[in-house]
Amino acid sequence: MKQEPKQTIVYPGAQIGELKVIMSVRTPSGETKRWRCECSCGERLTIRQNYLTRPNPKSDCGGIAHASDKTKYKREYGIWTMMQVRTSDPRHVSYKDYGGRGIKVDAEWLNNPGTGYDGFARFLKDMKPAPTQKHTLDRIDPDSNYGPGKCRWATMKEQARNKRSDKVRAERYAKAKANQTGQASQLNQPTKGESDAT
Ligand SMILES: [Zn+2]
Repeated sequence: MKQEPKQTIVYPGAQIGELKVIMSVRTPSGETKRWRCECSCGERLTIRQNYLTRPNPKSDCGGIAHASDKTKYKREYGIWTMMQVRTSDPRHVSYKDYGGRGIKVDAEWLNNPGTGYDGFARFLKDMKPAPTQKHTLDRIDPDSNYGPGKCRWATMKEQARNKRSDKVRAERYAKAKANQTGQASQLNQPTKGESDAT
């Protein structure tokens, strides 16, 4: 015997996944009833009733701040994960340039298993998805932590301009020297371990 899936009842105050139903919205007669809802991320939206009562109901605003984004934003999730590895795992090849230099990830961008706090959701909300596949995570100040307001998406080319100041000085010197001898400088090519790429 086939069992009918239990239908969600929608009423003001009902909690459906991440969505809290606030009130019904006046709709022209003949149209599906709609509900004003507030998502756990703070986003407010109007949703057709049938989207909320169907067997697999809409359960969040669809914004970038949701856990389901781990699969949708796989690349960003990998970048978020590697950022933590570089700053915390001495076995990582680049640890000496990150964790070894005292660079950490701010608490806002870290999961907190104790409270269920989702650091990745916050990371995505702050950073938004990477503009292109060529963009990697870059700290604005190369000596700062990873955290809200401290990072941007940058291409390798852009990152090359943002290396540690001693490096920049060394490059300038080498470039000047190369120009003197009329040779093309190879120093703009990022070498392994210098970029924040995953
Ligand atoms: Zn939301």
